[in-house]
Amino acid sequence: MDLVKTGNFIKEQRKLLKLSQKDLAEKINVSEKTISKWECGNGFPDTSLILPLCEVLNISANELLSAKILPSDEYKIKAEENLIILKTQYDSAVKHLFNIEIVLGVLSTVVYFVLLLCAIFAIENLVWKFIIIGLDVIIFLIGIMFAIRIEQVAGFYVCKHCNYKYIPTFKSVFLAPHNFRTRYMKCPNCHKRSWQKKVINKD
Ligand SMILES: [Zn+2]
Repeated sequence: MDLVKTGNFIKEQRKLLKLSQKDLAEKINVSEKTISKWECGNGFPDTSLILPLCEVLNISANELLSAKILPSDEYKIKAEENLIILKTQYDSAVKHLFNIEIVLGVLSTVVYFVLLLCAIFAIENLVWKFIIIGLDVIIFLIGIMFAIRIEQVAGFYVCKHCNYKYIPTFKSVFLAPHNFRTRYMKCPNCHKRSWQKKVINKD
């Protein structure tokens, strides 16, 4: 997606309708600055804003993503192209998050053990020993919390019994026994407990 092109397209369509940046901003409940940011190619509307924006500008989401008004013979081809682009971007974003999670988990664990061993064997003063161990535990927990947060929101868990795919609560991910990414949780759809695998896509 070319942000400069989509920005120019938003600007053109807005001007065609004789709307100011302020008018458009008010219609979709964002700030004038946000509209200006999009039009300058410094950002793209959040997914929740795409449809309201398209409705005001009298264009389709397909046209917004293609940054032009599409003649009917081109429409379907562009829609499929856009779908594949979005899917590719989504998949690589999720995989990227999974890599960050692994690094975070490994790093937290390594730092935890190194500091723990230092505290036990290298520090003589008992007070300092416990301060370092306390700090160590806190650093470890923060790292692991971030990793679990990624685990919770990146991709979906799939229920073995009913095939339902969902994003669980932080608490259920945190408390669930796990084997790498597979977690033993209760399905919010059929309420049965099972080892639920992680998948990238909902469909
Ligand atoms: Zn289920």
